[in-house]
Amino acid sequence: MSNRTFTMIKPDATNKGYTGAILDQIIKAGFTVKAMKWTKLTEEQAGLFYDIHRARPFFQELVDFMISGPIVAAILEKENAVADFRTLIGATNPAQAEEGTIRKLYAASIGENAVHGSDSDENAAIEGDFFFSKLERF
Ligand code: GDP
Repeated sequence: MSNRTFTMIKPDATNKGYTGAILDQIIKAGFTVKAMKWTKLTEEQAGLFYDIHRARPFFQELVDFMISGPIVAAILEKENAVADFRTLIGATNPAQAEEGTIRKLYAASIGENAVHGSDSDENAAIEGDFFFSKLERF
């Protein structure tokens, strides 16, 4: 069990001004920020990040959404980070997310769902490495 996960605050949430409230909720839930950047993905970068979904019918929609505004990428630390963060953000589809979760509070749809959270320790490491050099994390 790793103690790190990776997150992005997605363009729907940054565009609507939810970044501060979402970061506040993450930190109050006990996560420590080990790396963070505010950036905007290119189409190629968004496609690479979601490469696993390339064959899915929603792939281009997902890429277009992910480049529609800035994102905040971060590496977070907490005991049981991956599972606890998935609990904090709620189900992929906000209509099915538990009350009080970040997606229930801030997401509009299954596509535009406010935040990303790694689904495994292995992917947390891969996704963190996608955004951050050794100099940009501690
Ligand atoms: P996650 O691990 O909860 O983010 O969910 P997935 O790994 O299944 O999907 C990755 C991302 O693709 C989701 O967070 C959504 O932004 C997007 N996505 C998933 N399903 C759909 C869909 O049916 N339509 C659209 N437009 N986007 C989707």
